[in-house]
Amino acid sequence: MPDLDIVYKQQCMEWMHKSVEVPSSSDPSKTYTVTADFSETRRRENEYHCTCKGYQFRKMCKHVQHVIDNKLICDWHQMWGMGQSKEEKENYICPKCKGKTEVVRVGV
Ligand SMILES: [Zn+2]
Ligand SMILES: [Zn+2]
Repeated sequence: MPDLDIVYKQQCMEWMHKSVEVPSSSDPSKTYTVTADFSETRRRENEYHCTCKGYQFRKMCKHVQHVIDNKLICDWHQMWGMGQSKEEKENYICPKCKGKTEVVRVGV
C-alpha cells in the first residue's frame, strides 16, 4: 500500500455557492451563468462551466474567460494560493476574497 501523508489544508468556500451571470455580448437581454466546480478531485484549477452553446462545444467560452480574467470566483487553496496571515489562518479567512475557508484533507 502506498504511503500517503495526510495533511489538513484550508481552501476557500466561495466557489461552492458562487455562480456569476455574464451578459451576452450579442444580445444584452440575455445572460449566461458561469459556475465553478472545484470538486474533491484535488484538481489544481477550478473547473468552470457555462450555460452557453459555445461552451457545450468547446468546453471553453468568452464568459468563462471573462470570469477567470476578472477573478470573479475565488479559487484560493492553501496548497498553491497566496499565504495567509497568522490571523487569517486562525480565523479561517481566505486571504484572496476575505471569505470563509474550510479545512480539507489532502494526501501528499
Ligand atoms: Zn459561455
Ligand atoms: Zn476566497
